Amino acid sequence: MDKLFAILGDIHANLDALEVVLADCREQGVTDYLCTGDVVGYNAQPHECLEIVRGLGCPIVMGNHDYYVSSRQDLDDFNPVAAAGIEWTRKQLSVEEMYFLRALPFVTTKTGITLVHATMDGPEDFGYVFDHLQAEAHFSHQVTPLCFHGHTHCPMIYEKQMGAVYRIDAQDFKLPIGRKYFINVGSVGQPRDGDPRAAYVLYDPKARTVRFRRLDYDIAAAQAKIREAGLPERLAQRLEVGQ
Ligand code: ZN
Repeated sequence: MDKLFAILGDIHANLDALEVVLADCREQGVTDYLCTGDVVGYNAQPHECLEIVRGLGCPIVMGNHDYYVSSRQDLDDFNPVAAAGIEWTRKQLSVEEMYFLRALPFVTTKTGITLVHATMDGPEDFGYVFDHLQAEAHFSHQVTPLCFHGHTHCPMIYEKQMGAVYRIDAQDFKLPIGRKYFINVGSVGQPRDGDPRAAYVLYDPKARTVRFRRLDYDIAAAQAKIREAGLPERLAQRLEVGQ
């Protein structure tokens, strides 16, 4: 059977979004999953999401929330809302789940495709890539033709061709041979590009096509769980605006 990859990340403990994405994956005929990290943080169902993602048996890389939730590091670098989410999540997970997160690799190239949460230009520093200069720094460390990442929660395409780097708006496309791509798959559980729908990417290695999927899910249900858990109100509000 031909392979069809689903690349998903920044799930951030949003079970309502994750379930809709995985149902779509099954409908699309996905054979293989890749996860760009940040399974937990922000939303209210870290345990459930972790169990499901682990059940996929797929490569997963370490996100910054996965890293900080599973360590005793201080949270000075985080804004108070994100820090509150991390502290709450630390109390929800079992010791075994903490160890699992703590052991995630920062980078994997297992499938011939590179996965990193933020950028190959210091995978452990979790820098943000928003423009072609930051992408250029990344590309100098990308060995494989294709790399998927997340972290900004904004789907985006970066292309390197004849030494020049371009930023291209997320759109379905066919990968030309001889160029390198660094593709941001967006966020399943907390999109920030102004579109509140859950985001993930499909990659067909035989047809060389990349498709950006957006899916409606029950945002009100996810918000109710955030409020019930006593997480910051801002985390509920941002889901409906996709910011
Ligand atoms: Zn994230």
